[in-house]
Amino acid sequence: MSVSTDARAASAAQGLSCRNCGATYDLLPIHACEECFGPLEVAYDPLLLAAVTHELIEAGPPTLWRYAPLLPVGAVPDSRVDMGAGLTPLVRADRLAAELGMRALWVKDDSANPTHSFKDRVVSVALTAAARFGFDRVACASTGNLANSVAAHAARFGLSSVVFIPSDLEAGKVVQTAVYGGTLVAVSGSYDECNRLCSELAETDDFAKTAFVNQNVRPYYAEGSKSLGFETAEQLGWRLPAQVVVPMASGSLLTKIDKGFGELVSAGLVEGTPWRVFGAQATGCSPIAAAFEAGQDVVTPVKPSTIAKSLSIGNPADGPYALDAVRRTGGVMAHVSDAEIVDGIGLLARTTGIFGETAGGVTLAVLRQLLAAGRLDPDAETVIYNTGDGLKTLEAVSPTARPTHVIEPSLAAARAAGLVS
Ligand SMILES: *Cc1c(COP(=O)(O)O)cnc(C)c1O
Ligand SMILES: [Zn+2]
Repeated sequence: MSVSTDARAASAAQGLSCRNCGATYDLLPIHACEECFGPLEVAYDPLLLAAVTHELIEAGPPTLWRYAPLLPVGAVPDSRVDMGAGLTPLVRADRLAAELGMRALWVKDDSANPTHSFKDRVVSVALTAAARFGFDRVACASTGNLANSVAAHAARFGLSSVVFIPSDLEAGKVVQTAVYGGTLVAVSGSYDECNRLCSELAETDDFAKTAFVNQNVRPYYAEGSKSLGFETAEQLGWRLPAQVVVPMASGSLLTKIDKGFGELVSAGLVEGTPWRVFGAQATGCSPIAAAFEAGQDVVTPVKPSTIAKSLSIGNPADGPYALDAVRRTGGVMAHVSDAEIVDGIGLLARTTGIFGETAGGVTLAVLRQLLAAGRLDPDAETVIYNTGDGLKTLEAVSPTARPTHVIEPSLAAARAAGLVS
């Protein structure tokens, strides 16, 4: 797939730059710096950013692609691998706020995406990049939601896909990948082991023309997450929230919501009011939050053991950058137990009507913990991110979310159960 020059001019992307040493590169399918092996990310031309207006964005489609000028690829609509991800509801959560003693709380409900998680954002951008760079196959290592999304997008667009998952994933995540018909490899090992296997495969001739969405096109993949930050601001009426609580696996999503806020300020699309970013993990896989607590810059890998499988990355690539973003903005990181995660899922459901997956439970439980510890301001406008659908992780709540009554089909039985007098 080729892209014309005028199309490229419509994106403010300038090139890739190294997050460690600042070396710059063209927009190519590369992810590591040749100078220092640091990770590359997309950089934007400040003048082109400044040319982006509210009107331009609002005239775009009701998907993440309305922010195409702020993304590295997909300026031409026909070039997009687009299933309609993005522009999910920002739900004002007054009943939840009241229960938590907060003044203004919203849930950004990213379960309302085509495959029911925020991963549709990163996949749409990654596969658009993969098509532009001429890859003929897409692949990924996944903790579940990425697998669902890659397989679905590949099916819609007739691409061949190879997905690697740990074999102990939730049933829903396995089925929701397999049903789309690509190659699905269940590996008897952790996500981190799947990821290492993918790095090795990527070096082989057989996989030379395969885009690994979270490896060789990772700089493009990661940019898709910014759209969660852009939408939050647009849906608040082009304002930044004072506080956001974000679940962390690799830490990429958190860093990109922060980057997105920064770009909106640079582009003059919102005022530069301060925002604080808070990071949430499960205690059973909390390498980034542990480094935060210990005051360290390096993240020590762990072996995950938690019901929050979507967040179970023991060796998180963006951990140091997530630490930077949280420390720079004055936020905090925290982690919660599996029991607190289950409570969090229930509280979110009972007060907002949103059934979140385990990652959503992590985020709400961390919000609650930070409030109790006085580390998050209950009076400041706060947005929490529900990044996946509870139907994907039924195992987490099925032991406790049960019928309140079980009766025979008769009035007598209803009476005996106390449903009528
Ligand atoms: C992948 C994922 C995240 C966070 O991913 P990062 O690797 O930190 O970008 C959060 N929630 C859900 C449900 C996910 O699947
Ligand atoms: Zn470098």
